[in-house]
Amino acid sequence: MQDSYDVTVIGGGILGCAIAYFLSIVTDSSIIVIEQEKKVGLHTSSRNTGKVHAPFYYNPDKKSSTAAYALKGFDMVKRYCALHKLPFKEDGVIEIAINDSEIDVLHKHVQWACKNGLKDEDVKFLSKDEMLLIEPNLKCESGIVCFRDASTDYGLINEKLMQDAIMYGCKTSFENKFRAIYPNTKTAANRKLTVIGTVKDITTDYIINAGGGNSLDIAHSVGIAKEYTDLHFRGEYWIAPEKYNNLTKRSIYSVPRYTEYPFLDPHWIIRNDGRCEVGPNAVPVFGPYSYNLYDNLKNAVPKIFESSKVGMLKLFLNKQFLRLVSNEFSSSLSKTNMINRVRRFLPSLNPSDFKQRGRAGIRSLLIDKNGNFASESLLVENESSLHILNYNSPGATGALPVAVDIVRKLVHRNIVNLASKRINFLFMDEFE
Ligand SMILES: Cc1cc2nc3c(=O)[nH]c(=O)nc-3n(C[C@H](O)[C@H](O)[C@H](O)COP(=O)(O)OP(=O)(O)OC[C@H]3O[C@@H](n4cnc5c(N)ncnc54)[C@H](O)[C@@H]3O)c2cc1C
Repeated sequence: MQDSYDVTVIGGGILGCAIAYFLSIVTDSSIIVIEQEKKVGLHTSSRNTGKVHAPFYYNPDKKSSTAAYALKGFDMVKRYCALHKLPFKEDGVIEIAINDSEIDVLHKHVQWACKNGLKDEDVKFLSKDEMLLIEPNLKCESGIVCFRDASTDYGLINEKLMQDAIMYGCKTSFENKFRAIYPNTKTAANRKLTVIGTVKDITTDYIINAGGGNSLDIAHSVGIAKEYTDLHFRGEYWIAPEKYNNLTKRSIYSVPRYTEYPFLDPHWIIRNDGRCEVGPNAVPVFGPYSYNLYDNLKNAVPKIFESSKVGMLKLFLNKQFLRLVSNEFSSSLSKTNMINRVRRFLPSLNPSDFKQRGRAGIRSLLIDKNGNFASESLLVENESSLHILNYNSPGATGALPVAVDIVRKLVHRNIVNLASKRINFLFMDEFE
């Protein structure tokens, strides 16, 4: 295999594969994806809630780009799933107010939906009585139904994007963990950089860092985004027994109470195949792959060392943050505490019926020097690399339009060239 490429994409999650997919189809450049695992999509992209989110609860003043990508992502995911016969169930979602004070938040979310580009018919406010007519098992004061929300399997989409990219010439290097980038000293290839991997080095002109939970460490290794540090939160799920499969018609979210933190209360989730789950919570862990105790402890020492950084220290002195963290730990250790968080609005759930944990996924969130969480994803660049950081929910929904924008940006800067012979494909209109 050739070991010299125009562009090297680090990370075979849904974002890296979406970028590789568009680059391989619309440009003349040679592309390689390097992935530390045996195959693509083994981490966050297949360990999530599987919702194609509509942007009704993203504040348009703070999260306008997140909202715009979610809006556009919905249509693109729908088209891609239709083409490849992948699951895409337009099942809608409900957000409920559990007490009177949350009703105002719901009204605000209807306004945000409109500002974020949803149509009037996409989101409907329902009074308590109207809500109980459609979901009689719910306990709430009122709610919003968002009809433009869907369930899918992002792991399958991730794999298909990789297959499509390979079909259009993209190469892959699996079980090859990125370690460092150096200016190219090899004479064999006329390239600017050498990417050092655990099993194979690659010479390349440009690097795209889509390394998910490792993306900040990768950026730091080239001296970028040093002002940020990160914290990882494990989102855990419990699978509901079959007897609860018809408890509600739609997934149920409660109004988020602490919007500046990553602690949403767990939801009642209906997956695309009809299975129901409770989750996710957000338990602080030491690393992006800390799915179990052993993996968590492996990362403990470097992370504890890192927590002496200013932003992290400020966060750890924040009493509200610490109180919320202890709540998350308690719902991790106690199944009853976790299920009780959803029982607030679905009182017929019995914690002792829940026997099996679902697949946990880990969010990696950036923290600035003041101890604040970054509100949106960040694109940070130097002349030969681009880094996508803080790429969190609804990142799977937005991966296709985000990838389109990144590829357009690279074309605009002449880092890659549009192919002279254009291939007619599903998203051709994005590049005309
Ligand atoms: C609990 C939870 C629920 C979520 N629910 C939803 C949802 O319902 N809807 C939604 O739209 N979004 C959701 N998200 C967010 C969404 O899943 C993520 O934003 C998205 O999957 C991120 O994709 P990614 O490609 O950036 O990261 P990843 O999928 O983590 O991919 C990164 C890849 O990079 C590889 N990698 C890392 N370091 C290296 C290295 N050094 N060398 C080589 N390879 C490397 C990893 O192995 C991995 O394959 C959820 C996230 C979580 C945690």
